[in-house]
Amino acid sequence: MFAPMKVSSHFDGGNIEIVDITRPGDAHLQIRRDSHSEFLQWFNFRVSEVRDLALTLHIDNAGETSYPPGWKGYRAVATYDRQHFFRVPTDYDGKRLTIRHTPTRDSVYYSYFAPYSHERHQDLIARCLASADVHHALLGHTLDGRDMDLLTIGTPGDGRRVCWVIARQHPGETMAEWLVEGLLARLLDPEDPVARELRRQAVFHVVPNMNPDGSFRGNLRVNAAGANLNREWQSPTRERSPEVLLVRQRMEQTGVDYCLDVHGDEALPYNFIAGPDGIPSFTKRQEALQAAYEQALVRASPDFQTKYGYDPTPPGQANMTMCTTWCAERFDCLAMTLEQPFKDTADSPNEAVGWSPERCRQLGRANLDALLAVIHDLR
Ligand code: ZN
Repeated sequence: MFAPMKVSSHFDGGNIEIVDITRPGDAHLQIRRDSHSEFLQWFNFRVSEVRDLALTLHIDNAGETSYPPGWKGYRAVATYDRQHFFRVPTDYDGKRLTIRHTPTRDSVYYSYFAPYSHERHQDLIARCLASADVHHALLGHTLDGRDMDLLTIGTPGDGRRVCWVIARQHPGETMAEWLVEGLLARLLDPEDPVARELRRQAVFHVVPNMNPDGSFRGNLRVNAAGANLNREWQSPTRERSPEVLLVRQRMEQTGVDYCLDVHGDEALPYNFIAGPDGIPSFTKRQEALQAAYEQALVRASPDFQTKYGYDPTPPGQANMTMCTTWCAERFDCLAMTLEQPFKDTADSPNEAVGWSPERCRQLGRANLDALLAVIHDLR
């Protein structure tokens, strides 16, 4: 009996379109474009009624995505239970991405990276609020009406440094929120000495998801209006980029001594930091602070490195519409973009899971070691 497999993506963060299912186990699919935008790369879908069936899933428009070099050496992420994620064999021929896998369960999910759902985001916020020292502010709403959540850990004042951590301006970079989950868990551990000392010396403002609409819609890079939020920091508007407007307003109230903006990079198989080099007011102090932070992070986590990353920006040539450049210029502070791989770390690969939620969480924890190394020097 011919029982065609079923492919679906009508859920939080889902993205795929069916071109054709020719025979059992063989599907031609394509990635849908982001909302009001030309970007496309994120996929996340479920395949059902396929136990013990050898699947060949072609993503026909992989060669037309935003970052085709991202497919070289890439392996798709799979999960049965939405808790444990593993990599599956994936080929790219320059045009088409092909996933080959024989599921051992009736249904299976495949995605570009382990998804981080809105439900999980809400659980994260609620879990953090179990700590008496954590405050929640609802900064406002997105264009689709979702909450913009801000967590504040500690009380401002007494010379405490002001540390900001934001993630997922680019919603398909789910590794950013996985990292923040680990960072928050450590920061709120009452018996972790690094966390205790940081909380004594600093107040933290954390936005675990800067782009809840894009996340839910299954976008790679933009919000509901098609805005790339990390190009909106110079002149955000209520109509196009309320997410940035709301966070920027709060930053103006709190000041900023440290800002970590967490991302993922499609092509490079490394964790690395991009700084605000090239901004008009870039100082030796900022340069030295960043170098000290990076060296401390190298010591704290062998998954982090400084050899590979983006080319430095010549003086005066910085794109000032990004969070890192805007913060560094506005507040004369340590501001950095932390990039993680979609693939794996070339220096410390893990065959089974690639770069994974747990490894993101561990890097989030390690960032607190790096922060402690420079906290005295932030001002
Ligand atoms: Zn990004």
